Amino acid sequence: MTRSVIVVGGGISGLTAALRLRADAEVTVLEGAPVIGGKLRTGTLAGVPVDEGAESLMALRPEAVRLAEDVGLGDDLCDPAPAPTTLWSHGALRPLPPGHVMGIPTDPDALAGTGLLSDEAAARLRLDETLPAEPQADDVSVAEYLGGRLGQEAVDRLVEPLLGGVYAGRPDRLSLRAVLPRVAAVAERGEPLLAALREMRTQPGTAAPRAGSPKSGSPRPVPVRSLRGGNGRLPHAVAAASGARILTGTRARELQRTPAGRWRVLAVTGDGPLLLEADAVVLAVPAYEAAELLRPHAPLADADLGAIQHASTAVVTMAFPRTEALVRGQGSAGHGDPLPGGNGFLVPAVDGRALKAATFLSNKWRWQGEAAPDLFLLRTSIGRVAEEHRLAPPDRHLIRTSVRELHEALGPIGEPVAARVRRWERGLPQYGVGHIERIARVREAVGGLPGIALCGAAYDGVGVAACVATGTTAARQLAEG
Ligand SMILES: Cc1cc2nc3c(=O)[nH]c(=O)nc-3n(C[C@H](O)[C@H](O)[C@H](O)COP(=O)(O)OP(=O)(O)OC[C@H]3O[C@@H](n4cnc5c(N)ncnc54)[C@H](O)[C@@H]3O)c2cc1C
Repeated sequence: MTRSVIVVGGGISGLTAALRLRADAEVTVLEGAPVIGGKLRTGTLAGVPVDEGAESLMALRPEAVRLAEDVGLGDDLCDPAPAPTTLWSHGALRPLPPGHVMGIPTDPDALAGTGLLSDEAAARLRLDETLPAEPQADDVSVAEYLGGRLGQEAVDRLVEPLLGGVYAGRPDRLSLRAVLPRVAAVAERGEPLLAALREMRTQPGTAAPRAGSPKSGSPRPVPVRSLRGGNGRLPHAVAAASGARILTGTRARELQRTPAGRWRVLAVTGDGPLLLEADAVVLAVPAYEAAELLRPHAPLADADLGAIQHASTAVVTMAFPRTEALVRGQGSAGHGDPLPGGNGFLVPAVDGRALKAATFLSNKWRWQGEAAPDLFLLRTSIGRVAEEHRLAPPDRHLIRTSVRELHEALGPIGEPVAARVRRWERGLPQYGVGHIERIARVREAVGGLPGIALCGAAYDGVGVAACVATGTTAARQLAEG
């Protein structure tokens, strides 16, 4: 049994590992920043809590929601208002028809009249039914596979904005197997895609989220949830429940093996260097930090982790006086249908806008609307991978750009009474082609280092639920020893 463990990184992955190790070990968490939580961060705007990192917790897989329940926050979990996924595309807000899988329309007929695709692109989409489908042996990019089956315009206008929302990534670089595993499974079987996805949706337990499907009267899984008061509460509750010693402002710089086979972590703090020793170490930091710490011990893992690209983004949170355009999320809605209480929109990169997404917090999360009844809270997101130039200007410029583009999307919405910018430099790892094999090599290399475990957003999914799962697995590895 492991007696003492140092967890490097006080984001949700590391804190989950600390919690799950509680019964087996004395745990110390080292967090380089002044506060724990990493990308789960709740700030305050106009006196109201607002999430400046992850604003939704995946609920279709259980780990994040279960963790919240485990640490006593179950009663504070909230569902979003039902609303269709909406794209700001070709100059108007256009809801995606229900039944899509990550933007892939399983029913091409449902696209008619939406203005989302040109007639040629809609016709190209249907070719999927008749195109030969050879089993796909190797991993390829999302764009290579989907472009081949459905056409490039469908990739650019339907799939890219959804992938952009999650990864801030580009379909021509992202791995099909790592980011769209269900689609990759169809590709590997060599079947026409749309029919296979339609079939999957009718099988219990495999349906894609259908938030806000107006036709659906039956209970269906809620795809995401959030915590009343902000998701930033989760890491703090997990830290408290873990009983771990938490050292903030303490950045690990070096990992050393002792002659007795234990591990030493050299850290820097505001008061100078700190040397700690333990039986085991969990590295719960971004890939580029883990790469540096592992360099002397596992050079192969260092190379693979160091090669993972990251996207930088900024989240601009704003409070507006309430206006009809904002509350209804309606604006210049494409084909005349007002959107009932829209939750925001995603933006295809091909339209050349600065905004990647906007989330109408006051509409989406009831608790947030109630917390500031006179205001309308929203956030925009700027920056995809290889779009660093969009983040070069100062904060006030990002706020101005957001307001200008919101005006274009929604019509007159007034000026914000408060705004703040949170920058996430290298905030989202990119799962490039071959990611799954890369991570398998990393795990093999680190498997040769007794007492070292890895967890975090770089490995099996960037979402909070996936990160929580890696934290639990890391704890189990060490406990089983
Ligand atoms: C803007 C944004 C929005 C997102 N929205 C969502 C969403 O809505 N839903 C969702 O599920 N996911 C979302 N994500 C993804 C998700 O929030 C993250 O992938 C997840 O929170 C990462 O958790 P982590 O613990 O692995 O890493 P992090 O949160 O990055 O935590 C790692 C911690 O390690 C610390 N650290 C780094 N190096 C060292 C060192 N050498 N020594 C000590 N400490 C160190 C860092 O300061 C940090 O606190 C979003 C991400 C971003 C950036």
